[in-house]
Amino acid sequence: MSPIRLRPDLANLPPYKPGKAPAASDRPQYKLSANENPFPPLPAVIDAVVAHVGGINSYPNLAAPEAVAAIAARQGVDAASVVLGAGSVELVSQIIRATSGPGDEVIFAWRSFEAYPLLISAAGATPVPVPLTAEAAHDLPAMAAAITEHTRVIFLCNPNNPTGTTVTAADVESFLAAVPEHIAVIIDEAYVHFNTATDGPDGVDLFRRYPNIIVTHTFSKAYGLAGLRIGYAIAPAPVAVALRTMALPFGVSTLAQFAAIASLEAEAELQERVEQLIAARTAFADALAQRGWTLPTSQANFLWFPFGADTLAAAEVLERHGVISRAFAGEGLRLTIGSPEAMVAALVALDEIGAR
Ligand SMILES: *Cc1c(COP(=O)(O)O)cnc(C)c1O
Repeated sequence: MSPIRLRPDLANLPPYKPGKAPAASDRPQYKLSANENPFPPLPAVIDAVVAHVGGINSYPNLAAPEAVAAIAARQGVDAASVVLGAGSVELVSQIIRATSGPGDEVIFAWRSFEAYPLLISAAGATPVPVPLTAEAAHDLPAMAAAITEHTRVIFLCNPNNPTGTTVTAADVESFLAAVPEHIAVIIDEAYVHFNTATDGPDGVDLFRRYPNIIVTHTFSKAYGLAGLRIGYAIAPAPVAVALRTMALPFGVSTLAQFAAIASLEAEAELQERVEQLIAARTAFADALAQRGWTLPTSQANFLWFPFGADTLAAAEVLERHGVISRAFAGEGLRLTIGSPEAMVAALVALDEIGAR
């Protein structure tokens, strides 16, 4: 027991569960639990990090003008609208804390990104989860119906983690028509590079057209910088000022800033890798469909298996085959698209489990 008085409401908060790491073993093991990019960093990105590693005795430049300018140019937005964070999960936190406190409500689809309810509760605000449809997609009419006078923020995760489903541009436009303008609508596009749906919304375009849209992007997934921690939000300039106020001072390292710039410069090369992962996703989904599986169509770098009550048993079979999945007991599990060998191992395990 410690005599320190903690906030009593924290006792009800589940800790964030990271993707399970492989246990020590002499068999090959594949970590398909954290939606990480299986490719090693590009040489140009490593060079950028190495070039700045001699400066780590100094604090990073808080304003990060070079990285902000590179992102603003890439997205065609004003630098005043770009906010950096230590991963886009920090932007999610900044947005919640800049808008919401005790008594305020934040709406999100469920199941979606685990950090939403956690960071909403950590800010003292009230999480309002709205169940996904039977197709594991956002139920936008139900989300609109959940709006009250206390609503401050609504998260749309597109594609949705962990189900990979997407919303259509038309559905988002009708949804936005029902949302009062003082409520911030966050389009979390952590997996946007993997999304080949042609009927989907473009978050940055929505940001330009609506006064209450904030878009979040990350360098962790398609760009493979999960270990360096850098992401960004695009927000109306006065909101961006508020988000920066909520940022952890010096949270984005110099190495992360310059790795992000190098990644934007190498975007064409990175896109080739993304396309390989999309092809691997399609091949994996097709192989499963041929075997009789019916799964939600994923537009991200992972697939969702709604095993329901059999989820933990299925995760165990996968683990016996060296495949570490992200299991949500009673609901389903998520498998990241990894190396070709990893997908072969996953398919062997899934054959053993049997199509459903
Ligand atoms: C991975 C992920 C993020 C952010 O990851 P960071 O590493 O913090 O940038 C944000 N949203 C969703 C839905 C994610 O899956």
